[in-house]
Amino acid sequence: MLNCELGMGKTFDIGLERLTGGSGFSIGTSLSTENVGVEASAGELGTLRGASRGTFFLETFGCQMNDHDSEKVAGVLLSRGYRQVESPESASLILYNTCSIREKAAQKVFSRLGEFRVKQNEGRIIGVLGCVAQQEGEGIFARAPWVSLVCGSASYSKLPELLAQVEAGNQRVTGLDNDTDETFETEMTRRDNPWRAYLTIIEGCDKACSYCVVPYTRGPERSRASDSILREVRQLAELGYSEVQLLGQTVNSYKDPTARKMRFSELLLAVADEPGIRRVRFTTSHPSEFTQDIVNAIDAQPKLCNHVHMPVQSGSTKVLRAMQRTYTREEYLVRIAMIRGAKRAISITTDIIVGFPGETDEDLAETLGLLDAVQYDGVFAFKYSPRPHTPSLAMSDAVPEEEKSRRLALLQEKQREIQSKKNSSMAGETFEVLVSGKSRRENQWSGHTSCHRVINFASQEAALLGKYVQVRVTGATANGLAGERAE
Ligand code: SAM
Ligand code: SF4
Repeated sequence: MLNCELGMGKTFDIGLERLTGGSGFSIGTSLSTENVGVEASAGELGTLRGASRGTFFLETFGCQMNDHDSEKVAGVLLSRGYRQVESPESASLILYNTCSIREKAAQKVFSRLGEFRVKQNEGRIIGVLGCVAQQEGEGIFARAPWVSLVCGSASYSKLPELLAQVEAGNQRVTGLDNDTDETFETEMTRRDNPWRAYLTIIEGCDKACSYCVVPYTRGPERSRASDSILREVRQLAELGYSEVQLLGQTVNSYKDPTARKMRFSELLLAVADEPGIRRVRFTTSHPSEFTQDIVNAIDAQPKLCNHVHMPVQSGSTKVLRAMQRTYTREEYLVRIAMIRGAKRAISITTDIIVGFPGETDEDLAETLGLLDAVQYDGVFAFKYSPRPHTPSLAMSDAVPEEEKSRRLALLQEKQREIQSKKNSSMAGETFEVLVSGKSRRENQWSGHTSCHRVINFASQEAALLGKYVQVRVTGATANGLAGERAE
């Protein structure tokens, strides 16, 4: 989701420093990890050239769920006596938390690993975590024998044990069981952002989209207990976090495993009710489970942000069927109408894949027509990438790479026009903004509106980071808004 050109996310931050702080430590709610004998083992790592013993470097690829998994992995390591460092050269333990959603993302990891052959490893421990780990399994040891830990996200709850094995000198440690009913809860999470906290409420995926590797790499759907989620939100609020973002591959499939049986919309309202919480976001919503009660909750509680990310993938029912997406174009449009029927305007973003096997010009025209019909606030568009372990791999009628690029460009051009118009129509409006970035240029700041637009604005005031301020829109492009402080 992060390599798109037109979504309402990272691309708006151009020219502005993003605050990744590194200050946010927060304590989780479950003690599912074993920490016996920990510090001793971290300290026992060998002497390394240029690296201090017991230090780790962690690089993350891919989606917000991976970002948040890494925050939890960092928490596990910190609680074992490790210290986080900024470069692989100064680390005794190097971890890559990987993404395999598209081929390019998966390739990046092997190019990172390739750098170590040259450096001959120098005694460092190297581990591959996440989706590529699950997808490639022990094959990673064959391709990169200097790797000693391969662990998929479904095995993260076993990470302390696996790390203990690596620290004891075991050269081939794996956590590859992806048929689990466990969620990854940590004693401590090291959060990157000091104001907005990610919180995974549902892991894995039970859908079977024919192009998608996630059910294979992340295992079956498992929801976290509502009382555990709410306890963590309370602690986050006490630590000063004011915005929480609930995460899940299909976040609205949430099924409370406790006797309370809280519905997803009830959970949203309960999270918003926690004192100190000012904004609640959630992503990604699956169209098939997007129900009226979610819209009603947003209408009833202004702390629930007026933004829904609901991937459509294609505007053609024929392609949706081949993708095994569980809804038709018409059914998707009914969901859109439901969201548009809310009392306050809710911005809608989506994901689209172009060049799926068998997609014709007519199918693409239906997708372009859908953009006109829905008027999305942002689109994350991708060229179809064949993935291992997926049913679409065996499909005929592949679309040539050049043609995929042409279709992607057409779609992006159309969406750019839509976004330019939408954003321009906001001139003069005033939004509440959570300030999260400061430019190198003097008096320039940036932040997000509730509808998840990034807005860059000027203000003479000092120390705005983390504050909520009113900003009036003075200008717009396809990718974002510019404004000034309003009282
Ligand atoms: N669970 C979400 C849903 O159902 O919409 C999506 C999660 S997936 C990590 C993020 C996006 O990656 C998908 O919405 C899809 O657009 C894209 N994607 C997944 N598999 C892909 C593939 N094989 N080729 C290209 N894009 C892909
Ligand atoms: Fe992948 Fe489909 Fe599950 Fe989303 S719903 S993670 S696209 S299988």
